[in-house]
Amino acid sequence: MMKDPIIIIGAGISGLSASYFLKKKNIVLEANLCAGGLCRSFYEDGFTFDCSGHFIHIRDQKIKTFVNKLSGGLEKINRDAAIFLKNNFIPFPFQANLYYLDEKIKKECIDGILKRKDIKIDNKMPFIDWSLSMFGKGITKYFMEPYNKKLWSYDLKKMNAQWTGQFVPKPEAKEIIESAYSKNRSAYGYNSVFYYPKSGGCQALIDGFLQKVKPIMNARTKKIDIKNKIVYTDFYSYKYCKIISTQPIVELIKQISNVPPKVKEAAKKLKFSNVRCVNIGIKSKNGIPAILKNKHWIYMPEPSLPFYRVGIYSNVNKNMSPKNSYSFYIEFSSQNNEYKKSANVINDLKKIGFISKTDEIASINVVDMPYAYVIFDANKDKALKIINEFLNSNNIYSIGRYGAWEYSFIEKNIQDAKAAADIINREK
Ligand SMILES: Cc1cc2nc3c(=O)[nH]c(=O)nc-3n(C[C@H](O)[C@H](O)[C@H](O)COP(=O)(O)OP(=O)(O)OC[C@H]3O[C@@H](n4cnc5c(N)ncnc54)[C@H](O)[C@@H]3O)c2cc1C
Repeated sequence: MMKDPIIIIGAGISGLSASYFLKKKNIVLEANLCAGGLCRSFYEDGFTFDCSGHFIHIRDQKIKTFVNKLSGGLEKINRDAAIFLKNNFIPFPFQANLYYLDEKIKKECIDGILKRKDIKIDNKMPFIDWSLSMFGKGITKYFMEPYNKKLWSYDLKKMNAQWTGQFVPKPEAKEIIESAYSKNRSAYGYNSVFYYPKSGGCQALIDGFLQKVKPIMNARTKKIDIKNKIVYTDFYSYKYCKIISTQPIVELIKQISNVPPKVKEAAKKLKFSNVRCVNIGIKSKNGIPAILKNKHWIYMPEPSLPFYRVGIYSNVNKNMSPKNSYSFYIEFSSQNNEYKKSANVINDLKKIGFISKTDEIASINVVDMPYAYVIFDANKDKALKIINEFLNSNNIYSIGRYGAWEYSFIEKNIQDAKAAADIINREK
């Protein structure tokens, strides 16, 4: 008798990768009318927009070759990122570029480093304590605290520092102090060099997968009967032998019938922040304002501005905007999906000189991303263990940024989906 198929929930980068690498019969169900999840792009008024910048950070040579082929060719780009503080641009990372600060702030940052408490630094510490121990008072006050408060829109005392791993460069104290006296030339961080499809935005990669993988669109899973192994959508039901789910794990739990109370309780403990991305295309006779020339993205720690990051698609790849124009993504974070201040974004950008007053808005759209950043707190790992034990014992594997409930990115999503597919391929 033929075995029932593996059902893959979601046609984002994780679901598409899982299907691509599986050698067994599988069906991909996608809730939306188009594939790609957060890696999709859209084309409006001659501009190409992503769901905020989706740049490709790859370390694994095999994945690089694979992504290069699938996306029709990648361009290699040397990062030009900065922090915008008191009308001044500090190259990223802040903590290795004190040279660019005004004298008063620079002194506070150096004093802070010298006066750090001599304690063992552990990434399970509350984020603020971790930052004070790692970088001292000044760097925490001017960048780490105000920026992360905006990025996570969450109480930083209730979060730990487990997410900082590769995302926060950690130069030695000596390097930090030296950076106050001479311009730093070292490249820091996982994304000092990154890649991006030559044309078509991040969607070019998704389109490569779609040559082989054919998801069923408009097929949002609503209910999962684990006893009879049936997945229900609004229009259809599917028998399955296993499920690979890439939807947020908390949504997956809500769909399953007869979930034990302790698993339900564990799911309620998982916290997250939502993000709104406003994409803007701008027509301009004179091109992008000179202060932004070549910059790829800018961190915005100032409490007076409601967005935490501004990126410039057209500086990453000139094919992202038509001639005589430039284009932005602007990111806002929220706990409750309210973004009242985003309505004022154009005026805010004009005020700080990121849009010239004489330029014309040619295109604007909004992408809301619920679950965008999962919160790292004292409950997360314990809760995930309980949930995954239940899921795995019922032949359900939850992967991807929101399925695994992690701070991951495209390369890791492809790697993890391949690893899951390889395990299933080896099973008899
Ligand atoms: C603001 C922001 C910026 C980022 N920038 C980068 C970057 O520059 N580089 C990088 O590598 N990564 C970046 N990331 C991370 C990247 O977006 C994710 O790692 C990646 O998109 C995760 O893919 P996924 O397939 O796991 O999840 P998703 O992209 O969320 O895909 C899940 C899919 O499942 C579908 N789905 C959900 N529920 C159901 C259901 N019930 N039934 C059927 N289908 C369902 C969704 O519609 C979606 O298509 C960024 C993330 C954010 C939030």
